[in-house]
Amino acid sequence: MAKYVYLFSEGNASMKNLLGGKGANLAEMTGLGLPVPRGFTVTTEACTRYYNDGKVIADEIEKEISEMMEKTENLVGKKFGDPKNPFLVSVRSGARASMPGMMDTILNLGLNDTVVEGLSELTGNERFAFDSYRRFIQMFSDVVMEVEKSKFEKILHGVKEENGAKFDTDLTALNLREVVKRYKELFKQEKGFDFPQEPKAQLMEAVKAVFRSWDNPRAIVYRRLNDIPGDWGTAVNVQEMVYGNMGNDSGTGVAFTRNPSTGEKKLYGEFLMNAQGEDVVAGIRTPQSIEQLREINPEVYNQFADIAEKLEKHYRDMQDMEFTIEKGKLFMLQTRNGKRTAAAALKIAVDLVDEGMATKQEAIMKVDPKQLDALLHPNFEPKALKAAQPVAKGLPASPGAATGKVFFEADDAVEASKGGEDKVILVRLETSPEDIEGMHVSQGILTGRGGMTSHAAVVARGMGTCCVAGCGDIKINEEEKYFTDKNGKKYAEGDWISLDGSTGNVYGERLPTVEPEMTGDFSTLMQWADEMRTLKIRTNADTPKDAAQAMSFGAEGIGLCRTEHMFFEPDRLPAMREMIVARTEQQRVKALEKLLPMQRSDFEGLFTEMKGYPVTIRFLDPPLHEFLPQADEDIQALAKEMGLEYCELKSIVCDLHEFNPMMGHRGCRLAVTYPEIAEMQTRAVIEAAINVNKKGMSVIPEIMIPLVGETKELKYVKDVVVKTADSIIEKAGVQLQYKVGTMIEIPRAAITSDEIAKEAEFFSFGTNDLTQMTFGFSRDDAGRFLDEYYNKKIYESDPFARLDQTGVGKLIKIASELGKQTRPDIKLGICGEHGGDPSSIEFCHNLGLNYVSCSPFRVPIARLAAAQAAVGGGAMGQK
Ligand code: ADP
Ligand code: MG
Ligand code: MG
Repeated sequence: MAKYVYLFSEGNASMKNLLGGKGANLAEMTGLGLPVPRGFTVTTEACTRYYNDGKVIADEIEKEISEMMEKTENLVGKKFGDPKNPFLVSVRSGARASMPGMMDTILNLGLNDTVVEGLSELTGNERFAFDSYRRFIQMFSDVVMEVEKSKFEKILHGVKEENGAKFDTDLTALNLREVVKRYKELFKQEKGFDFPQEPKAQLMEAVKAVFRSWDNPRAIVYRRLNDIPGDWGTAVNVQEMVYGNMGNDSGTGVAFTRNPSTGEKKLYGEFLMNAQGEDVVAGIRTPQSIEQLREINPEVYNQFADIAEKLEKHYRDMQDMEFTIEKGKLFMLQTRNGKRTAAAALKIAVDLVDEGMATKQEAIMKVDPKQLDALLHPNFEPKALKAAQPVAKGLPASPGAATGKVFFEADDAVEASKGGEDKVILVRLETSPEDIEGMHVSQGILTGRGGMTSHAAVVARGMGTCCVAGCGDIKINEEEKYFTDKNGKKYAEGDWISLDGSTGNVYGERLPTVEPEMTGDFSTLMQWADEMRTLKIRTNADTPKDAAQAMSFGAEGIGLCRTEHMFFEPDRLPAMREMIVARTEQQRVKALEKLLPMQRSDFEGLFTEMKGYPVTIRFLDPPLHEFLPQADEDIQALAKEMGLEYCELKSIVCDLHEFNPMMGHRGCRLAVTYPEIAEMQTRAVIEAAINVNKKGMSVIPEIMIPLVGETKELKYVKDVVVKTADSIIEKAGVQLQYKVGTMIEIPRAAITSDEIAKEAEFFSFGTNDLTQMTFGFSRDDAGRFLDEYYNKKIYESDPFARLDQTGVGKLIKIASELGKQTRPDIKLGICGEHGGDPSSIEFCHNLGLNYVSCSPFRVPIARLAAAQAAVGGGAMGQK
């Protein structure tokens, strides 16, 4: 029979999966001989079972809990429910991964109307007894019975006012009796029955409530944001109470072995005398710093400092500890690897290696790759940020801090920037490829619609620009160029706002920012990561500027250069449009000839910047309508500019209209219908490579054909490419190697990869489109219903942000295997948004891909994630 309950003395730190983090560490500290109040842990498996059984605790588990309760009573020498010698416990949640504040804890359980009198008599401390009881009633009612906390707080506040008490500690025993009386009245009024008096029933109800709290809405959101699977469940710890609220020789506190914001090696923490549980963090009184404990009680301070050091050495990481002092005696209530800022994480990791406390491998596992983001972008000055009030909130689509004047059209932003304005924020309902230049000159982008993978979000992340997307709190009037915030305040062109891309907060004022600092620790850790990883890290870059940025972050090649982005530049767009409106091949070729030199010089710039590292160039991909205006007045203006009749251009725009452009005339289908486009692009790539190689470089360009679904389709385009390339190379009389490969982004291509690999020399998994086509929903629209899917537990996370390993991952796996069957040395990479996501990177590493490619600002994140995957444990290892 399975064992569902473990005494602290039966467990240890390695049993985190079963006992949860808190339980495993309480067991470990017990084993180390530290002063830990006794108790036991009901396992995460019991929680899973509770859910599987339809939210009931099986009899055998209930029996095991009762037995362990008895054992613990005997150890402690007190009795649950016995007024003469009462045993009280805390019931504490604790999942595998720490989820601070997400689930619930109840203190002083076992109290009732008679036990409280007994406790009062036994301790001779009536005030303490009733202080404990009022805390218990409130916590139990809130957590188990769902009576709102605030209603109790109102009563407490009332009694304080009536008695002129400033702090809780000013309340007398008599006052607290009154509080208890009113609490019980409130309870009865709310629930229709008396406050539960039977300790055993209290205990089982509390255990169930903790299990339930695993599924409360804030825990579900926290899990999604932190990649914690929903089926892990939480453990429940039942532990002997120790009392920090017995008077001024008692207290409770929290401390870190190192400073969690800076990483400085120095005990850092706070405590409150005559207090219990969360009082310190709840801010009911101003806590004292841990330093002051040295003065108040040097013995306890020294003991605590010793334990802290011992724990840090034992866990070989910075510890976050909870302690309580009961009448001058110290108890340890929790320890865990402490959460820390990115800067502290780097410093601590490097310091621990210097101090001989950790290996380099262990050190790199201690930094969460996603955290590095914060170090790569400017940030708000912390004090100013704290003082500011957000006026709206949207999605944190691309991190960073931006402050600037608002503009409502891309052209206006560009103009302002040309006029010398270097603080520009572009505010749009949503962005489109036409806005690209305006986005480029902006410090931040704010959109009213769209999700985490909307155009604005993807492009902003690619550029490393701060972006808050889908901000429904604001009402944008693009025509009249203003928006209103959630308070109804109006912002017109030129008004200052600030965006926090890490929280999604919007501020209606100018906030000061500080530039990021790349400290020595950062590069040290990155160097270690590079020594360990086997995956190559490439970048998605379309311009020499992006390429240079990525190189400075350590990119080892370009995995995706989207050539169409080059055509949106204002000096290219006219030629591109000419090409699109061409009625004959001849006209089209003429327009393409104008584009050729521009494209060639783009590639020369990229090749030069990449200094011989591989560069994968994707041929034209988007549907052509994206290059033409849609609004009538814009069509009119363009027609005039191009010397066309309005209705002529209008009919071209209408002809290009597609019901589902993402699945329409795009990708290699463009090259099949207009081979001359592929010809021109090949020419530009090959000539650029020849020119650059003449200067002593050795570029091997990789030409990538997008959106292939059928081998013959690829072969058709490849033949055009090869014929063009070979004739140029022959004419130039040089040696030049080049490769032709394809993106795998259509499920049909994935499952016929053995065929495709006959023509393709490399595969790059375009996981944005592959996800979209595999799920059958568009990344631009999924935001509308995904929330409901999370709530109903159909999906746990956004498949466009975190690779769906089960489905899309399976296609990648199949395609990799089939591809290798045909062509054992085929190069495999991934270039979707997922290329910068740590858990997806781990997946790619395990599949044996050669590289991942991500936006420049994600390169350091990917380097670290790849190293973690190689060391083992992967991205989840450090939770
Ligand atoms: P969280 O996970 O939210 O920190 P905890 O289970 O750690 O919740 O408990 C909340 C507070 O109650 C903490 O301050 C903790 O130290 C305190 N606490 C928990 N168990 C006991 C106990 N047995 N005796 C005294 N204080 C306790
Ligand atoms: Mg805690
Ligand atoms: Mg694609």
